Amino acid sequence: FPSRDPSTRVVRTTCPYCAVQCNFDLHVVDNLPVRVTPTKECPVAHGTVCKKGLFALNDVRHPDRLTGPLLRRNGELVPVSWAEALAYVSEALRPLLATRPDAVGVFGSGALTNEKTYLLGKFARLALGTANIDYNGRYCMSSAAAALNRTVGYDRGLGFPLGDVATSDLILLVGANIAETLPPVMQYLKGARDRGATVYSIDPRATVTAKVAGRHLAVRPGTDGVLALGLLHLMKAWNCIRPTAPAHGMTEVLWQADDYPPARVAHECGISEDELLTLGRLYAGAHKPLILTGRGPEQHAHGTDTVQTYLNLAFLTGHFGKPGGGYGTLTGQGNGQGGREHGQKADQLPGARSLRNPGHRAEIAALWGCSPDDLPQPGRSAQELFNACGEEGGIEALIVLGSNPVVSAPGALQVRERLEALKHLIVIDFLPSETAQLATLVLPGSMWCEEEGTTTNLEGRVQRRRKAITAPGAAREDWRILCDLAAAVGRPRGFTYATFRELQDEFFRATRGGVADYGGLSAERLDRASAQWPVRSADGPDTPYAYAPTYPTPDGLARLHVPSFPPPPAPRGLTLTTGRLGNQYQSGTQTRRNPALRASLELQVHPETARERGLNPGDLARVTTRHGTLDLPVALNPGLRPDTLFMPFHWEASANLLTSPDSLDPHSRMPAFKATPASLVPVPVT
Ligand code: SF4
Repeated sequence: FPSRDPSTRVVRTTCPYCAVQCNFDLHVVDNLPVRVTPTKECPVAHGTVCKKGLFALNDVRHPDRLTGPLLRRNGELVPVSWAEALAYVSEALRPLLATRPDAVGVFGSGALTNEKTYLLGKFARLALGTANIDYNGRYCMSSAAAALNRTVGYDRGLGFPLGDVATSDLILLVGANIAETLPPVMQYLKGARDRGATVYSIDPRATVTAKVAGRHLAVRPGTDGVLALGLLHLMKAWNCIRPTAPAHGMTEVLWQADDYPPARVAHECGISEDELLTLGRLYAGAHKPLILTGRGPEQHAHGTDTVQTYLNLAFLTGHFGKPGGGYGTLTGQGNGQGGREHGQKADQLPGARSLRNPGHRAEIAALWGCSPDDLPQPGRSAQELFNACGEEGGIEALIVLGSNPVVSAPGALQVRERLEALKHLIVIDFLPSETAQLATLVLPGSMWCEEEGTTTNLEGRVQRRRKAITAPGAAREDWRILCDLAAAVGRPRGFTYATFRELQDEFFRATRGGVADYGGLSAERLDRASAQWPVRSADGPDTPYAYAPTYPTPDGLARLHVPSFPPPPAPRGLTLTTGRLGNQYQSGTQTRRNPALRASLELQVHPETARERGLNPGDLARVTTRHGTLDLPVALNPGLRPDTLFMPFHWEASANLLTSPDSLDPHSRMPAFKATPASLVPVPVT
């Protein structure tokens, strides 16, 4: 309900908390947002929001809000002026940049606007001259992005508008708990189901989504790729191979499927042959089957190849690229899609260009007024960046913007130790995250409603984020802080924007000619309507339907790859898998502080597994993996596989204390979050 206060301003913007990017109206009184009202005009959620969006305001004036710079003196973070803060930056970074720029690392976030993503990459490569920049999307979307990029030359989570999901007749949700993580998307699934579609949840847990879907296949964690190979085996046996388009690698991929007969697949996935055959028959008989992957199959040390198995299946059965069918990945973070397109990735330049491509380097160098040779080569990926912190010849200073790796990175204890070993840790954030609390300097940045920008949702839809209020106290907008830092290190050239609009227009220009081309966009155009990229000219159309052959590959053909992953561990013992809770977002810096979004940290255990160990609900259980031990209260979940434990990761003392900081996907550098061998015992009573 709109406020009756006549001084109320209403600002339409987008929710920052997930990649759906629901539009809502913020009602503002005296520089304070007082109410959120969803809008039916939202092209994605059509007037719905989830609890996180509805109560997002609670964080905006939280007592913990950072309102001035904090500098570590005698072990304590103490308030200082901006002048003192920037003098510290100058003194800390200039000597490193003069001798070894790669000793300075930069770490960004999939929650940043597109403009900040762009500016952070430019800041790292042009102002600092370091190769070492990466971001937390490495832990989120990188496997699906790597698989799509190498197969069809670009990566847009959904190649069609979300509304088309309702036209599919079979939806396979692979490791995707939409009901809790992307709630408005459920309306499309329900729409499909109401039209007669079958919805299948493939997940070790019977999640809320699985219950709504009605069909659930509880595969063992880490075996999603084997399941897809088994389905491809069946499609081949049943003469259902009719590729979307000519492509490289098809023969080899089909040969590999011969090695995955139902008996092997059922054994390795921990399901029955009947279950596999039922799913296979449904897939073979569907006119427009849609496979949607979430983080379940992606967050593995073989995540790229696992996604590849599903891409291969969709492509070889002729469904890839169909509106509402084929394959899609459900991007998670607030700007997970745009955040992976514009240059904060270790190997990337704006517009999803590659740092390895001489032509791409030349295009961006021309825009930035430097020589292509001045641009660094690709640097360390996220986990490699942290593992090098404080190492001889590694990273000596790290700048973190809007991310909390002490909670979200695997092997969190080791990451904490690495960050503590740095000479300088500069954190730009708006709340004192666990990472900010380790910093030598904290700079107060802007929250989502305190800045302008654009974000790109899970279907490649670019939308405006509008500034509703000004940041409190001495907090500054993040883009200004990056410009201040460039000046502090003596490299202000290219960072002297008079207004945000100047930066935004440069960003749009920088994407022009890339595969993620926003070159035809402007704030005015986005005021009229959101647009799905590529948008190549100001008077040209946007692109609701991507992934039509030909593809932006050297010869226009797709390249299917033969996936390779180690055989899953013997089906015995327990496996710890990790994930999200509906009320929480990422490392919980915001949502754990929000009284409307309470959630408790518990270890989910199947009742049979608990009974075997003498554990009752609420008992403290000790989970041990090769990487750590944690005691947590037990919650019984009969919808979980008996050989699987589930733990959320939103707290510092939670899942990532037990995950591996060392196992990385060879293609995407994604760590292994989702399947860690574990043991479980009751905590001894003392
Ligand atoms: Fe919408 Fe996601 Fe925000 Fe919920 S968290 S309101 S689903 S954008």
